[in-house]
Amino acid sequence: MTRRAIELLLLVALGAVLGWTQNSPGWTFAGALVGALAWTVVDGLRARSFLRWLNKADVARQPHLSGTWGEMVDRARKLIKKLEKKAQSSDARLEDFLAAIQASPNGVVLLDSAGRIEWSNLTAANHLGFDPQRDLGQYVRNMVRNPAFTAYLAGGDFNQEIQIDGIGPRPSQPSKISLQIHPYGKKRKLMLTRDVTAVQLAETMRRDFVANVSHEIRTPLTVLSGFVETMQSIPLEEADRTRYLGLMSQQAHRMQTLVSDLLTLSRLEGSPAPGPGEWIDSEELLTHVVQEAQGLTQAISTTLHKIEPIPGPSMWVSGAKTELLSAMSNLLSNAVRYTPGGGLIQTGWRLRSDGWGEFFVKDTGPGIAAEHLPRLTERFYRVDRSRSRETGGTGLGLAIVKHVAQRHGGHIDAESTVGEGSRFAIALPPNRVRERATG
Ligand code: ADP
Repeated sequence: MTRRAIELLLLVALGAVLGWTQNSPGWTFAGALVGALAWTVVDGLRARSFLRWLNKADVARQPHLSGTWGEMVDRARKLIKKLEKKAQSSDARLEDFLAAIQASPNGVVLLDSAGRIEWSNLTAANHLGFDPQRDLGQYVRNMVRNPAFTAYLAGGDFNQEIQIDGIGPRPSQPSKISLQIHPYGKKRKLMLTRDVTAVQLAETMRRDFVANVSHEIRTPLTVLSGFVETMQSIPLEEADRTRYLGLMSQQAHRMQTLVSDLLTLSRLEGSPAPGPGEWIDSEELLTHVVQEAQGLTQAISTTLHKIEPIPGPSMWVSGAKTELLSAMSNLLSNAVRYTPGGGLIQTGWRLRSDGWGEFFVKDTGPGIAAEHLPRLTERFYRVDRSRSRETGGTGLGLAIVKHVAQRHGGHIDAESTVGEGSRFAIALPPNRVRERATG
């Protein structure tokens, strides 16, 4: 028998005994009834105190009840503690999960069934230009005011992703955001965003590059096939034949140079940067490219350029010899090709006061207007288109120089004054150069 039943029986018996002392069965019964009532009141008070505590679910302030009620308090306390622990661990897991989504480079937005923002990570908010805290509960259609997005959201066909303008570094330069909605649960939506600006830029560059290469190859090919057709259809005098063949060979050579420059560029892009292993005598490099430039001036100018090597410190340069030679000769060949015959070209190696080494080429050519300077190393960018073509330029020379310099940890410097001349330099960091005396 439980303690509660014993208590009830005791109170009923006590009541009955007190009634019995009055010597009447009626009083005995009434006494038992009062005892039962008293028990009900006491038990009800205990139940009330238990329920009150249960409502507050405050484990620390448990009521002090004895018997069955005390046991119920104890069991309920254990259960509450267990549930609290479980809730805490679920909270921690949710926090972890949200922190992981927060750290994602992609944007994540959760929308409720009405299309209101329930949660968003910072990336998505930055992509779409809203505040991840302040704008919670707002309709996403009001936050992302873009016609393509509005139509996408209203259309309800979310099989494809869409691209919209995001908030870029400047209003004139919006970023490109790819966005896709994935419905889940009861009419809820998961919206994922991704910044595809760089991908698009690379794609545009790739397209431009292919278009440029095709154009560069098509021109000599058209000329070449024109001559072939002429020679096939008309009998030519020996002199004309020789002249035509000369022109054809020139075009074929142009294509060869272009393909060779393209291969050089792709090799430079696709191979690991040269280590600091090989130390090369700077003088040896200079002599080699000066000789080449002298050959070039003889080939293309009636009045030869004056190519003057400027003596510098005796030094070693570390890097890939063929790459350095190719970059140096590109700069010198530009100086020869763009400077009118008879002009002065000075070139050499020098050590700068900040420890960097520099190979420079200074000419007395036409110079380059300031607005062109930042774009010179772009592939196929030409200031003087016709001069470039006449002298066998491919528009890739300075792109190659830039790549070589960067692969050696350096950069290309260009200064120019229109009408006075230009100065190009390949600057190499201190770890790539050393004076011979100390070496
Ligand atoms: P290209 O094969 O056309 O010479 P580059 O990449 O070497 O291509 O040079 C890009 C452009 O920069 C050239 O087309 C030319 O207009 C300009 N340029 C380069 N070097 C010189 C220079 N020394 N003097 C004047 N213009 C130059």
